[in-house]
Amino acid sequence: MQVRTRFAPSPTGFLHLGGLRSALYAYLFARQNNGAFILRIEDTDQERFVPGATEVIYNTLRDCGMNWDEGPDVGGDRGPYIQSQRKDLYLPYAVQLVETGHAYYCFCEKTETEEGGGVFERAEDPCRGLAEDEVRRRLDAGMPYVIRQRIPDEGTTTFHDEIFGDVTAPNKDLDDQVLIKRDGLPTYNFANVVDDHLMGITHVVRGNEYLSSAPKYTRLYQAFGWTEPEYVHCPLITDEEHHKLSKRDGDAYYSDYIEKGYLTEALINYLALVGWNPGDDREFFTMDELVEAFDVSRLNKAPGIFDVDKLTWFNAEYI
Ligand code: GLU
Repeated sequence: MQVRTRFAPSPTGFLHLGGLRSALYAYLFARQNNGAFILRIEDTDQERFVPGATEVIYNTLRDCGMNWDEGPDVGGDRGPYIQSQRKDLYLPYAVQLVETGHAYYCFCEKTETEEGGGVFERAEDPCRGLAEDEVRRRLDAGMPYVIRQRIPDEGTTTFHDEIFGDVTAPNKDLDDQVLIKRDGLPTYNFANVVDDHLMGITHVVRGNEYLSSAPKYTRLYQAFGWTEPEYVHCPLITDEEHHKLSKRDGDAYYSDYIEKGYLTEALINYLALVGWNPGDDREFFTMDELVEAFDVSRLNKAPGIFDVDKLTWFNAEYI
């Protein structure tokens, strides 16, 4: 089986160091296994779309030496690689889930504010138990709807993560998340599963802010009868005071450092070590050496601390 990893950024601005590090690990893993590294632009949230942000992603990855084998500009067999150009393919998959009992139409007003807000306590959603003929009547009358995932009240869901091991969530703690919004577009939560499957992704490397949603993705894979990818959810990157790197402090983005005069090679070298160690005292790595040395089993579970002094030291050595 060919290893296929992907970087799936949303074009919402500059490239965050956390995202860049996920891209780096996905890239290293693909290269090390003679696999493919795929770039997918996730632009279905039109409200957050920033013009020019896609070019920033291309340029940053290229500057860093992370070339993709398939993507919007280079093509590939599993495209299109821009989510908005795929928008019509998701609804039939959601309807398939409705037909097999894993999803349902929801006509409630409150869901209008989805994706984030307006999540029902599951038991409260009156559409969960609507009779089939009533659903049909409302659809025929053209009532607006969303499609929600149906999570059982009982039981648990378990998935495996390379860093966190087996993760189990009680189903009662998972919400009946929206899969298709009123405008007919998929939510990120649905599109990532369908796309990762259709693009044959074998290893999903991303930030651990998705860890809590992963059981819901597992249930979607199971409902479709699809093989789940291996997951690698990378812990957050924080500053030395354990705060998330923030936009406000001007220390969160790749471009913040390049503008201050840091070299790309030094930044990539240091970033690789925020969250991973080679198991010996080596500190300097070219990209090729990283490909060679990288080992998923040596990724840390604890948040990675981004130490600017250390980066500055690396940068001086590189100069
Ligand atoms: N579009 C998501 C983001 O930018 C991607 C998360 C993922 O890799 O699945 O956060």
